[in-house]
Amino acid sequence: MAHIVVLGAGTGGMPAAYELRDELGKEHEITLINERDYFQFTPSNPWVGVGWRGRNDITFGIEKYVSRKGINFVADRCEKIDAKNNKLEMKNGDIIAYDYLVITTGPKLHFDEVEGSGPHGGHTHSVCTVDHAEAFYEDYKKQIEKGSGHIVVGAMPFASCFGPAYEFAMIVDTDLRKRKIRDKFHITLVTSEPYVGHLGLGGVGDSKGMLESKLRMQHIKWIVNAKTTKVEEGKMFVSELNSKGELHKEHEIEFDLAMMLPSFFGVDVVTKVEGLCNPRGFVMVDDYQRNPTYKNIYSAGVCIAIPPVDATPVATGAPKTGYMIESMVTALVHNIEEELSGKEPSHTGTWTALCLADFGDSGAAFVAIPQIPPRNVAWFKAGKWVHLAKIAFEKYFMRKMKKGSSEPFYEKSILKMMGINRLK
Ligand SMILES: Cc1cc2nc3c(=O)[nH]c(=O)nc-3n(C[C@H](O)[C@H](O)[C@H](O)COP(=O)(O)OP(=O)(O)OC[C@H]3O[C@@H](n4cnc5c(N)ncnc54)[C@H](O)[C@@H]3O)c2cc1C
Repeated sequence: MAHIVVLGAGTGGMPAAYELRDELGKEHEITLINERDYFQFTPSNPWVGVGWRGRNDITFGIEKYVSRKGINFVADRCEKIDAKNNKLEMKNGDIIAYDYLVITTGPKLHFDEVEGSGPHGGHTHSVCTVDHAEAFYEDYKKQIEKGSGHIVVGAMPFASCFGPAYEFAMIVDTDLRKRKIRDKFHITLVTSEPYVGHLGLGGVGDSKGMLESKLRMQHIKWIVNAKTTKVEEGKMFVSELNSKGELHKEHEIEFDLAMMLPSFFGVDVVTKVEGLCNPRGFVMVDDYQRNPTYKNIYSAGVCIAIPPVDATPVATGAPKTGYMIESMVTALVHNIEEELSGKEPSHTGTWTALCLADFGDSGAAFVAIPQIPPRNVAWFKAGKWVHLAKIAFEKYFMRKMKKGSSEPFYEKSILKMMGINRLK
């Protein structure tokens, strides 16, 4: 019998626990650990930021659902991974021993990298967590009461997630239009990407042309190659670089409200383990999602190390998107199963990106196979149907995480017909 511990119950960890339970025999024990007792559907946080969703719409208590499937759940923060002795030290003092550890801890939101940024004592907001999105909404309501203002939305250097910045700029635009006060507000996108629509992916299809056109149509100005260096109350300091990485222009942007996706780093508990991570604290994995130093540690999701798609004047990271994460999960589950049957791991995820970006009343969908170029498929389409598809996806994913099936057969069949598979 083996004890498999999944650390982190987000978009990667929840399906990992369910899929392990489905694939492994009942003699093996599975424990899921999360620092909070609830799951949050991160892609809906931008809607929380403008009050279109409340906390209860996009979160649910984990224990009730996973325990039905025979998965143990621990709601506590892991403070130390003792990788040499296969043990976790929890905040409450408990020690949890494991045979296999699956790390799905997501990112540390590294606000410290830009002075004066972040929602904890800084002057910018985030929508990366439901708490952060709620904090934005409180200040947004006050700004609406004032009747006018300048809202800055974007991504800091070393961010490795850009889609939500575009989504949020467009969602705020839509919300203000619905309130019939869009003409009283300016919106500016400030991003570390080298061009609009780069997305940390070197672009997908015509993402540049389509997103530029959309921003123009919504009267959203933009600054790219933006190295935000400091934020003060109501003022953002941005060095705009040229394509050679030289200073092109210094900006001091006055704003009333700002939502900036922060730089991403590994969470403390993993960065502290010698030999586990790259210099930015992301867990190193081989083709099988397995750490090269500690062979009984697997990892998936935002917490893994992936090199940037290309060298950009301002540092940008490659995003890890939902379906890509699920493909990593399926691969590692099959690999652990193989190891338990005395075989060598042989499964590799496709790392396909399949994304729906909401623009409030329309949206953009893209498929990139594989996510890292050169690609076999690069498809980018916009339309009102994406907004509806994103709402449907939210309901579908939340239901899936409550019911405990990571990849129902109809999902697998439909995606297969589209040429999209989780495993190579
Ligand atoms: C605002 C936003 C919107 C996004 N929208 C989309 C989208 O529409 N489509 C898409 O494909 N991708 C989207 N993404 C990208 C990606 O899918 C998400 O970031 C996804 O949530 C990442 O999953 P994860 O499992 O790697 O990390 P997370 O979902 O962040 O989960 C990590 C979990 O680990 C827990 N944890 C961390 N450290 C510890 C510890 N020491 N002890 C115990 N628990 C710990 C955390 O509390 C958290 O619950 C979005 C990202 C953001 C930030």
